[in-house]
Amino acid sequence: MHQQIDLEALCAERGLRITEQRRVIARVLSESEDHPDVEQLHRRANAIDSKISIATVYRTVRLFEEAGILDRHDFGDGRARYEPAPEAHHDHLIDVETGKVVEFVDPELEALQRQIAEKLGYRLVDHRMELYGVRIDRED
Ligand SMILES: [Zn+2]
Repeated sequence: MHQQIDLEALCAERGLRITEQRRVIARVLSESEDHPDVEQLHRRANAIDSKISIATVYRTVRLFEEAGILDRHDFGDGRARYEPAPEAHHDHLIDVETGKVVEFVDPELEALQRQIAEKLGYRLVDHRMELYGVRIDRED
């Protein structure tokens, strides 16, 4: 489901000034298939350019987030995790034992959420859905 999103191109579209370090961080984010936190991003960016500081990573993710091209998630462990804002919506299931994040889309669930909002007198414009679970085949 992680179609690769070109954050660098999106930066250009939004008129964000792109420095060399921001370009590296944008590329690392675009190529990440998980939902990395700032420390993981810093390690990956550092493998490409050892001069990139963690402060620069913090500033850059905040900038991208404010520009609406990066989504921040909190999957319950108190660490902010990031992914390029997907073109197609998806939700997340978090394995509470391993921290693994599974992405899913369920049309019935989407419709149900719209209906609930309407019943309460609202037109739904956005939502966040996080499911937390343990794998059934690991339980005994
Ligand atoms: Zn995701």
